[in-house]
Amino acid sequence: MKYFIKTYGCQMNVADSGGMEKGLLARGWERGESVDGAGLVVVNTCSVREHAESKAMSFVGELVERRQKGEDFRIIVAGCMAERMKDTLKKRFPLVDLVVGAKDIKRFAKLIENIPGVIPADKKSEVSEPSGISAFVTIMRGCENFCSYCIVPYVRGPEVSRPADEIIEEITARAANGAKEVTLLGQNVNSYHGKSANGATAFPELLEKINAIPGIERIRFMTSHPKDAGDELIKAVTRLPKVCEHVHLPLQSGSDKILAAMNRGYTLAGYSKVVNALRAACPDVSITTDILIGFPGETQEDFEQTLRAVNDIQFDFIFAFKYSPRPGTAAAAKPDDVARDVKEKRHAAILSSLNGIATQKNATLLHTEQEVLVEEKRAGQWVGRTRTNKKVFFESVLVLTGKTVLVGIKRTKINSLYGTFIKIAG
Ligand code: SF4
Repeated sequence: MKYFIKTYGCQMNVADSGGMEKGLLARGWERGESVDGAGLVVVNTCSVREHAESKAMSFVGELVERRQKGEDFRIIVAGCMAERMKDTLKKRFPLVDLVVGAKDIKRFAKLIENIPGVIPADKKSEVSEPSGISAFVTIMRGCENFCSYCIVPYVRGPEVSRPADEIIEEITARAANGAKEVTLLGQNVNSYHGKSANGATAFPELLEKINAIPGIERIRFMTSHPKDAGDELIKAVTRLPKVCEHVHLPLQSGSDKILAAMNRGYTLAGYSKVVNALRAACPDVSITTDILIGFPGETQEDFEQTLRAVNDIQFDFIFAFKYSPRPGTAAAAKPDDVARDVKEKRHAAILSSLNGIATQKNATLLHTEQEVLVEEKRAGQWVGRTRTNKKVFFESVLVLTGKTVLVGIKRTKINSLYGTFIKIAG
């Protein structure tokens, strides 16, 4: 019997889907590539923006309609929206077989056994860790920062760090299965504090332990919170050879007034200090960010401060989002008073700024040699990433999956580099 998992949202959800997949494989299920022919469909949902929720909701609606028309498969709705809207989902879609909220996702394998007749319980067996060059490993769940716009603390609960030994064990197994790169996931990785045999382990120590795992060549992590990104983290990035020179550090706004209203816990000056320290210690570091546009009360002057910050800091990439109120958060109690067309205009202005900055930054890599970890071949071209997380395309007749190679950069664009293969790095 086949299953199909549709995942919405962040890398954390992708990692959660991987965990659910393991539970299904261990119970004798096989992976399917689409809803067609699947006996079980899992929709792993996101709640972080209204748009993400409506997309997941309409997908669930389509599945239910197919069931009503006589198709025979089970439906499970999981993740953040499932947590937030448990009762609504059950009422609106009685044909959904199971709702597993984000807080229960670790119990997914147990919970699915409650679907009558679906899970062949006698086929339980251990499955090995998934293969693949890049492994996404969750090191902590939840968040207790309560940024005023964010639903995560409500749907994922308070911060819980996984024990360090368990993480090391998982990464060691992934490395044995071919992983060369690991991305550590958490809402706020800098505040990681996991138990280990020798007491508590903080994030820099965890990085150190992972740095010692044979087979792992690169370590990435996200997301860092600017208020917790201290000297220890900067030292780890510069001192540990496997930790990549890329930090995703969400700024959200360049206006101190808006940052305070967002409850972010830093000012623009504090944020810039972290960026300057990172760049002083590691001049090649690439810094990417999130910007939230149109937060309640954001005036044109506030927005211009954000735009100035974007131009001053010169980010390598920006994920820009338009604010939408999330019911139950502190910000949702305020009027959503930035008009939609104003949000659109501000969003376009940020993207246009990014366009100029990223194009210019990538152009400085022209005619350089870059070390690229090759992930896969796509449409006849090899695709991999630099240590600074820039995507590189090149051609070669060699089989290069999982190899670290040197590529001479011949052409650059806003979010990718194109080059020629030089050699496999020694
Ligand atoms: S740090 Fe803030 S934005 Fe990030 S998950 Fe926690 S509450 Fe949400």
